[in-house]
Amino acid sequence: MISLPSKDFLETPIEEFVISSEKVAHVQIGNSAEHALLVLTKTGYSAIQVLDAKYRFHGLINAQRITDAIIGMDHIEYEKLGNIRVEEIMQTDLPLIHLNDRFQRALDLVIDQNFLCVVDDNGMFMGILTRRIVLKQLKKQLYQFKQ
Ligand code: AMP
Repeated sequence: MISLPSKDFLETPIEEFVISSEKVAHVQIGNSAEHALLVLTKTGYSAIQVLDAKYRFHGLINAQRITDAIIGMDHIEYEKLGNIRVEEIMQTDLPLIHLNDRFQRALDLVIDQNFLCVVDDNGMFMGILTRRIVLKQLKKQLYQFKQ
């Protein structure tokens, strides 16, 4: 029988598991869809953050949204890429997690999100928490309790 992770563990602040913002690829408000596509392709990440000059979080951009924006009736309008701004097509309806939130909330959210964007009280982007990291921590707990 597998023992469940302790309540204490679920109450752990997420802060220690966050990949800090300086290690996270991002684009800025005002950048073109072409630039975002370059960053997405070069990094290989599925989605990247859109931040403003003050490092406040605004949304996420992915290749699917960029492609959707340039698909015409019968061909892909590549020439549009340079004229579309990332803020016109970014995703904004996503759950954010606060730096002081607990592991339990992260666990709930990563069921539907591959990674979570972490912000502070002022909406400043602090980094990301990936599903991979959350699962690794959960696995560590389960194995510890098994022994
Ligand atoms: P991973 O768990 O490492 O496969 O990451 C899952 C997703 O989190 C990636 O596809 C990216 O969208 C995002 N991600 C992970 N690490 C970074 C990073 N350093 N910069 C930007 N996005 C990242």
